[in-house]
Amino acid sequence: MKLAALPPLSLYVHIPWCLRKCPYCDFNSHEARSDVPEGQYVDALVADLEATLPRVWGRRLHTIFIGGGTPSLFSAASIDRLLTAVRTRIPVEPDAEITMEANPGTFEADKFRGFRDAGVTRLSLGVQSFDDTKLAALGRVHGADEARRALDAALAIFPTVNADLMYALPHQRLEEALADVREAIARGAPHVSAYHLTLEPDTAFHRAPPPIPDDELSADMQEAIEAELGAAGYEHYETSAFAKPRQRARHNLNYWTFGDYIGIGAGAHGKLSFHDRIAREVRERKPVTYMKAAMAGDARSEMRDIAEDELPFEFMLNALRLVEGFPATLFAERTGLPFAVLEPQLAAAEAQGLIERDATHVRPTLRGQRFLNELLEAFLAPAPRKRVISISPKGTGRPA
Ligand code: SF4
Repeated sequence: MKLAALPPLSLYVHIPWCLRKCPYCDFNSHEARSDVPEGQYVDALVADLEATLPRVWGRRLHTIFIGGGTPSLFSAASIDRLLTAVRTRIPVEPDAEITMEANPGTFEADKFRGFRDAGVTRLSLGVQSFDDTKLAALGRVHGADEARRALDAALAIFPTVNADLMYALPHQRLEEALADVREAIARGAPHVSAYHLTLEPDTAFHRAPPPIPDDELSADMQEAIEAELGAAGYEHYETSAFAKPRQRARHNLNYWTFGDYIGIGAGAHGKLSFHDRIAREVRERKPVTYMKAAMAGDARSEMRDIAEDELPFEFMLNALRLVEGFPATLFAERTGLPFAVLEPQLAAAEAQGLIERDATHVRPTLRGQRFLNELLEAFLAPAPRKRVISISPKGTGRPA
């Protein structure tokens, strides 16, 4: 494979601590039992970025995403130090989108203003629900009123805001799921992410599952949520993402269009393209190990080039999440492979009604969107390399 040009470059920063571990959460997040070593961790992030620079010489950052965990646990001064360190080491485009995830349980107006002054342009708020009973069932540290106050303040302070919501919650009725969406709309969130609660392995909910809606009811909820947001002028542009015009998440769009990203922080994943190869990197997962390794000059626990026969699946894993699909030319631009290598799988997916396409564009049908896993299976590389690769632990806009 040969790439004619390198894709846009983003930076993902992982901050791995939370006030409390939510019972459904499988992210690399740890309960902040005593004082979080904030200063030391920022030092490690900066050292990690510096060690990565030789692999991205001459490139500019087009978005930054500070995710977690709960990055809003950190002080505004630490976020300012981090973003200043980034800007002095790698060029950042003047209109770069800089997103930070925040938990309403950490909300203080002055702190939010400090994040804005540090350069954060977009706050992604983990609301999840405006219903106290549902928030308690999810083990969230915040209540509905805190979520309301945090969302209203975020909308007043930041140029743009995302509200994360979850549906198919324990004992939830369709009307309750819709009430959450209606409230996010009424409060003016320009971007809403609506995630289906899933019982992930190695979580408390997986070990002791709560009573959640069955498949039929959750499918009805999904349809009703899509219709409600559509009627309110939101564009449904990715499986779980809805945006008012010109409010799409540019950082996440870079993942979904198979762009590049540096991933720094405990357990962060990165993807970097070179002219003749595409590499993945993973950082040490445990915060203490990560900090030690970063300060010693290399925090990577894994690195490997993506094999050519894995590239179609990796590309599709991202691009088929986009409701509008992707232009055929993007595949060659991002993977360096001719579009023709996809022909047998595309023809099969089309025959099953999972995609539709013309000479220039491929898009998932509604059936393809609903049965995304089946659709993706068609693009898996043949054995023995056949395996599923997760694109990023966070920064894809999943709930925080
Ligand atoms: S869901 Fe978010 S707030 Fe809860 S433990 Fe996971 S990362 Fe932390």
